[in-house]
Amino acid sequence: MTRLLVAGALHPTGEALLERIKTQGVDVTYVTDPDPTAYLPHLPQADALVLRTQPLSAEMIATAPDLRVVSRHGVGYDAVDVDTLSARKIALCIVGDVNSVSVAEQAMMMMLAGAKQALAAHYATKGAEGFDWHWRNLLRAREVYEKRLLIIGYGRIGRRLAKMADGFGMHIAAYDPYLSQSGAWPDGPAAEVTDLDAALAEADFISAHVPAAKGALLDADAFAKMKRGVVICNTARGGVVDEAALLEALNNGTVAAAGLDVFLSEPPAPDNPLFSDPRVILSPHIGGLSNEAAERMACACVENALTFLAGTIDPALIVNHGAIHDS
Ligand code: NAD
Repeated sequence: MTRLLVAGALHPTGEALLERIKTQGVDVTYVTDPDPTAYLPHLPQADALVLRTQPLSAEMIATAPDLRVVSRHGVGYDAVDVDTLSARKIALCIVGDVNSVSVAEQAMMMMLAGAKQALAAHYATKGAEGFDWHWRNLLRAREVYEKRLLIIGYGRIGRRLAKMADGFGMHIAAYDPYLSQSGAWPDGPAAEVTDLDAALAEADFISAHVPAAKGALLDADAFAKMKRGVVICNTARGGVVDEAALLEALNNGTVAAAGLDVFLSEPPAPDNPLFSDPRVILSPHIGGLSNEAAERMACACVENALTFLAGTIDPALIVNHGAIHDS
């Protein structure tokens, strides 16, 4: 009988799937305690491990003699010792593209909120301190229609956003030097741009969809090249947009509005000066955490563990596919 250890709480649909597979002969141990070490006592008995965000070190892996597959509830695996798994020929699986729609919608929402000055409009309607109904006559709300959107990073999320923005009648350009180098720019609504400085100077909206890297992609130099009144959106990773440079660009009028789902430290300090500006709309890193995406993720990670053991998994979902199939 397969012994499946699930470390961390799943969406209710994932829990229902666990109940179903129990009736099909899988021995499920489900540990919902958020303490990152709570699942460890069960690891020595597991053939398969579904892992939410807990670390999995070489020492922990050493306690699991029967482990054959680790299935991440997500796509990242920074906290997992992949080399040790590979050395033991234990597979590491990730879920496929379960949340790009959700993140792209978050970015689109933030761009619209920035264009329409949604927070200021909300305060003006309620007559909140510093606002009144006559705010409407300042004509601060703008349209996205026929505006220029620059998408930086044209991967799964960037491409979803391009389709959505196309529906709003935006003119879309994307900058992705790695994709350009591959020569495989996909058909679709985004024009390929290779000169980032020129693209920054033309854009009315800029949305970042790149992985985290050392140093900010949008720093003070980048803001200095932008058009006055640009709307900035970061649903990628904290630090991709330099927060101090963004604050300065809001204060000097370069940036008209911003949407931030991700922060350099999370949760961010509540006295972050960006947080008191009604032109900045915030969310607590929920881009990929819609209810629907969480549901897809919960089911996918359980299914990946079982389809790996059954030999029917899509090999593209196995991070260390090469290593575990070497002889
Ligand atoms: P992806 O790998 O499909 O696409 C990323 C693209 O960025 C690639 O095409 C790559 O070539 C390009 N790229 C890398 N460095 C670049 C650079 N310096 N300039 C321009 N392009 C560059 O990734 P994705 O699934 O689209 O995710 C994009 C980002 O969104 C990642 O940072 C990811 O961590 C983040 N993300 C956030 C959330 C959230 O909850 N807010 C959820 C999922 C993903």
